[in-house]
Amino acid sequence: MPSTPKYRLLTPGPVAVPERILRAMSGTLLHHRSPEFIPIFNEVRAGLRKVFETQRDVVILASSGTGAMEMAVANLTKRGDLAIVVRGGKFGERWAELCESYGVRTVCIDVEWGRAVEPDAVRAAFRSHPDARYLFVQASETSTGVYHPIEALAAITRESPDRLIVVDGISGVGVHKLPMDAWGIDCMVSGSQKSWLLPPGLAFIALSERAEAALERCDQPRYYFDLRKEIEGQAGASPAYTPAVSLIMGLQEALRLIHEEGLESVLARHESLARLVRGAAEALGLGLLAADSPSFACTAIRLPEGVDGKKLEKTIRDRYGITMAGGQDKLSGKILRIGHMGDVDGFDMLTAIAALEMALLDLGHPVNLGAGTRMVLELMRTARTAR
Ligand SMILES: *Cc1c(COP(=O)(O)O)cnc(C)c1O
Repeated sequence: MPSTPKYRLLTPGPVAVPERILRAMSGTLLHHRSPEFIPIFNEVRAGLRKVFETQRDVVILASSGTGAMEMAVANLTKRGDLAIVVRGGKFGERWAELCESYGVRTVCIDVEWGRAVEPDAVRAAFRSHPDARYLFVQASETSTGVYHPIEALAAITRESPDRLIVVDGISGVGVHKLPMDAWGIDCMVSGSQKSWLLPPGLAFIALSERAEAALERCDQPRYYFDLRKEIEGQAGASPAYTPAVSLIMGLQEALRLIHEEGLESVLARHESLARLVRGAAEALGLGLLAADSPSFACTAIRLPEGVDGKKLEKTIRDRYGITMAGGQDKLSGKILRIGHMGDVDGFDMLTAIAALEMALLDLGHPVNLGAGTRMVLELMRTARTAR
C-alpha cells in the first residue's frame, strides 16, 4: 500500500487531465511549420470556434489566462479611455489593475464578494459615464464562485455602438452557456487549465467584428502580444512566434473529447457536478458564498465560525490527498472552493465531500457524518448518472 493517499486535484484550475490527453501530448514533437502540424492547428482552430460558439477566429497564445486578459486591454484600448469594470472578486480586480497599467481610466462597480452584478448597476454606470467605451467583466468569478449575467450585460453594453463588452471567460467558456456571436460578446478569453481538460500554458482570445475594428484605433505599445499579427498569421496556420506545440496536440485531443461528448452535455456536466456539491453543503448545514448566482466552475462553501479554513484545506490535502482551493484575500480562511472542471465526475465530488466531513470532525467541528455524502448519492441516484 502506498504510504500517501491517492493524489486528487479538485481546484478550479489547474484541473485533472485525462490519460487520453496526457498521451496525446507525449508523442513525437513536431515542428510548428511542418506539414504534419498544420492540419492539427487548423483542426484545433475549428474546434475552438465551436466551443466559443463563434464564426470568428479564436487566437491561440502561449501564456496563462492572464496573458489573454492583458492582450485584450493592450489591443482594444486607447490611453485615457474610460472603462467600466465589474469588481466582485480577485479577477475583477485584475481587470481594473490591467486597465490602470495601460493608462485606461476605470469606473469600478464594486460588487459584494459572493454576489453577481445587477444589470441595472451596469446600465446606471453607462448612463452616468456616457463616454465609457468598455465593460470588463468575468463570466465566472472564480475567486467567489459567482456567475455574472453575461447575456444581459452584453445587451446593455451594445445599446451604444461605440461600446465593447470584454468577457473573462477563463473559467466560463466550456462551463456556462456563453454563445459569443448570439449574445454579442465583443471579446472573450479563456485558459487551458480550466474547462479544457489541459495543463496550464495556453490561452485563447476571440474578437467580434466591432472589436477587431478597435485594433486600429488602439494606441498601446504591443509586440509579442500584438493581436493584429496573430489574427493574420494564425489564419494561415502560421502563428507569429513558436506556438506551444505539445499543448496544442493535447488541445486537439481535448477538443475531440469535448465534441464527442457534445457541448451541451459538457455544460450540463459542470452544472450537475456543482449541484451535487451545493446540495451536500446545505445538507451539512454549511452556507454557500454565491447562493444567488452560483458558477458551475467551482462551488465556494462558507466555513463555520471557529473553523480555520487554512487548516481545513491542509488537513484535506495532507491527510486525505485532495487538493482544493481556499479563499483569497478577504475570504482567506473563510471559504473552501471545490472545482467541477477537468477529469472529474460525481464520485470525485462524493470523495471531496467525504473528506470535508472527516476533516471538519478532525478539527473538532461537529458534523453529522454521512449527511453530505448521502445527499450526493441521492442526487446522483435521481439523476441516474455518475455526475
Ligand atoms: C484562473 C482564472 C484567471 C487566471 O488565469 P491564469 O491562467 O492564472 O493567468 C483569470 N480569470 C478567471 C475567471 C480565472 O478562473
